[in-house]
Amino acid sequence: MQCPKCDGEMIVKNYGRKISVNRCSDCMGLFAMPEVLLEMKQEWMSEVLDSGDPKVGRKLDEIEDISCPGCGAQMDKVSDEKQSHIWYERCPDCSGIYFDAGEFTDWKYDTLLDRIRDLIRGRRDA
Ligand SMILES: [Zn+2]
Ligand SMILES: [Zn+2]
Repeated sequence: MQCPKCDGEMIVKNYGRKISVNRCSDCMGLFAMPEVLLEMKQEWMSEVLDSGDPKVGRKLDEIEDISCPGCGAQMDKVSDEKQSHIWYERCPDCSGIYFDAGEFTDWKYDTLLDRIRDLIRGRRDA
């Protein structure tokens, strides 16, 4: 599998029993199915898979109009519902998702922080 952003080679990386993602050996971008990403989001320390440099990821985030590394369809650039600063690519055909380096970690942890903020706010209101 070839990386749609930098043409590096994407290699399968496994984490635990259920998680299997494709990671670019050059830019460290990640490609996986949404259910795998959700699983990864809940998994302790799963961000070790997102080992790329966020600076490289931000630069590559500017690249648009990429083809899905899984099936070749044109991918859509979408922003996360809850964290609108995070933009990732989603395949309309196979629903695979591509995260630039650092984006997964951002996605995983901002949400946790949001939950903590919600808890604090909830307590104050009570
Ligand atoms: Zn790459
Ligand atoms: Zn696809």
